[in-house]
Order: sequence, then C-alpha cells, then structure tokens
Amino acid sequence: MQLIDQYLRKINYLRVSVTDRCDLRCVYCMKEKMQFLPRKDILTLEEIERLCDNFIDLGVEKIRLTGGEPLIRKDIIKLIEKLNYKKDKTNLKEITLTTNGTLLKKYAKQLKKNGIERINVSLDTINPEKYNKITRFGNIEKVFDGINESLDEGINIKINTVVIKDFNEDEIEKLINWTDSKRIDLTFIEVMPMEETDVSREYQFISLTEIFDKLNKKYNFKKSDNNTGGPARFYNSDNLSTRIGFISPLTNNFCASCNRVRVSSTGKLFMCLGQNDYVDFRDIMRNDYSDNYIKEKIRFALNIKPKKHDFMIGSKINKYMKRHMNVTGG
Ligand code: SAM
Ligand code: SF4
Repeated sequence: MQLIDQYLRKINYLRVSVTDRCDLRCVYCMKEKMQFLPRKDILTLEEIERLCDNFIDLGVEKIRLTGGEPLIRKDIIKLIEKLNYKKDKTNLKEITLTTNGTLLKKYAKQLKKNGIERINVSLDTINPEKYNKITRFGNIEKVFDGINESLDEGINIKINTVVIKDFNEDEIEKLINWTDSKRIDLTFIEVMPMEETDVSREYQFISLTEIFDKLNKKYNFKKSDNNTGGPARFYNSDNLSTRIGFISPLTNNFCASCNRVRVSSTGKLFMCLGQNDYVDFRDIMRNDYSDNYIKEKIRFALNIKPKKHDFMIGSKINKYMKRHMNVTGG
C-alpha cells in the first residue's frame, strides 16, 4: 500500500505534534505570553496511536514526534514503546523525534531502549547567554548534558539551527566547528513566516542561499549522495568530518520532492507546512467513525495536498501562516 498525492509524490513520512506546550519560548517560534490549548482539546495518546496506525496501514514508514516539546508530554515513552512495537511488523521502519534537548539527559536511555536511533536537537547558539536570550530563559547546560548522554547511549544526533539575522550569523563557523568536533551533522534552517511572534519576521529573516555562498568559499562543499529524505540539501567538505545541511524554503523551494504530512496536537492534518488548509481528525475519532472512514479521509486529504508552500517574507509582501510553529512542530 502506498500513499500517493495528486502530484504523484509518494507520502511515507508523518510528523506528529504531541503537545503545543513547551518548556522554552524561542523568540522566533512563540510569543512571550502564549495561550496554550486546554488539555481536552489535545489528542490522547490512544488517539495519536490510532491515527498513526491508519497512516502506517496506508504506507507511512517514518514517524517523527515533535511539538511544542515532545518530551514534556506525560507518558511520551509509553507512546514510543507502542509505536516501536509496530516497527518492522508493519510498514513502519523508523520513529524519531525533534526536541529542544532540555530533557534528553533524563530520557536518552529510555529512548534508546524503545528503538529511537536518531534525534534532531534544536540549538541556535552554543553561547550560554545568547541561548538564554533566544529561548527567553533556557539553560544551555541541560542541552549539552542531554546531547552527551544521547551520544553515550549510541543515539545519532543532528543539530538544527535556525539562522537569525543579527543574532547567530556570526556564530555559523563556531557551530560548524563544534558539531565537527562532536562528529554530529548540522542543518541550518531559514526562518519561516509562521504566525507573528513579538518581533517582525522581516527583522529575523536572512537568506541561507547567501550564507551558503559565503561558506562554500571556505569549505568547497560537495553535494552529499546520502540524503535523509527530507528537505535539507546536505554537503560534505574535505575540511569536515560531518555533513552540513541547508533547509531554505524561502530561497530554494523543495516542494517537488515533499514526502510528508503533519498532524497537529489537536488532530488536524496539515498537508503542507506553508499552507493553512487542514482536515480535522479529532472529531472523526471522537464520533466513533471506523478506521475505514479515517483511511478514506486520509486519501481525500492527500488528494488536496497543495503543489507548494505559499509563504513569503519581504519588505512589501509578507505571507504568514495562521499558526505558530509549535502547532505542527516544523
Ligand atoms: N521543541 C522542539 C524543538 O525545538 O526542537 C520541537 C518543536 S520546534 C517547533 C521544531 C523546529 O522548528 C525547531 O528546530 C525550531 O527551531 C523550528 N522553528 C520554530 N519556529 C520556526 C520558524 N518560525 N522558522 C523556522 N523554524 C522554526
Ligand atoms: Fe519550544 Fe521548540 Fe518552539 Fe523553541 S522551537 S519554543 S523549544 S517548540
């Protein structure tokens, strides 16, 4: 069984936001004062599992848990344990997560035990004061401890860094050297115009295409064949032991090879990160519809998956999404 959308793209990757809440408030992701959803609106772990089961039956091979911060969701390990049980007995081949890393020290062992082999950790700076500022109150030592613990457990880590104008542009090479010394991959990401935070996107955005061109002079990048199936373009360099990735949705569109859809913590299926349309599965599940009906709705959603995202940041035109990134988890 395969899920193919109207543009003949094979969709085999599901990202699930397990909570909209977070223990940090990164300035490009959230407002300082966020209104989080009442718990009754959030899918239960059983509902998440049921939705995943239906996607897996239809051909989904990879599930990424995200948020908000996935590791603050109560009993998240129980969900991972249940999903892990399905691995290799069904279409499911990989479970992974994107985390801010603050709770990794506590959970690394249990994650590894329950089949998590790779994790993306979001870290925009390695400077403790700057980290505290960009996350509004975070303590970077917790993230360093979490990364080290995960590496000790044998979990592969990739660092995701959002490049923010006048904040971490000057740290790019430091981040490259730091990840290189730890032998972990690093991906740079362009700021995307999800719902307004307290600072206008125009003041946060910087083109990664420009940054790539500057870095290329020093690193003489060679395109890596080993792609992770995501939107990042990965490069090797003779000067580095690790790979550097670039995710540049605004300056280098990658929608033609999109293989994913996203479920929000309330059960809305977003077919595209950069569009506002969704199909709501919470009411379907809470009104006792059958799994066959859920599958029918998933196929319907794939038939209306748009060709490409529709966001834009500019001095004259801005096209924002009507939701913050914690709704769908990136
Ligand atoms: N809390 C977890 C974390 O930070 O990794 C998972 C959820 S977070 C929303 C997922 C990713 O989205 C993070 O790498 C974060 O840096 C990124 N992100 C958040 N807001 C963004 C924005 N406006 N543009 C680009 N990336 C963003
Ligand atoms: Fe939380 Fe991740 Fe958003 Fe930062 S990027 S506020 S860690 S959800």
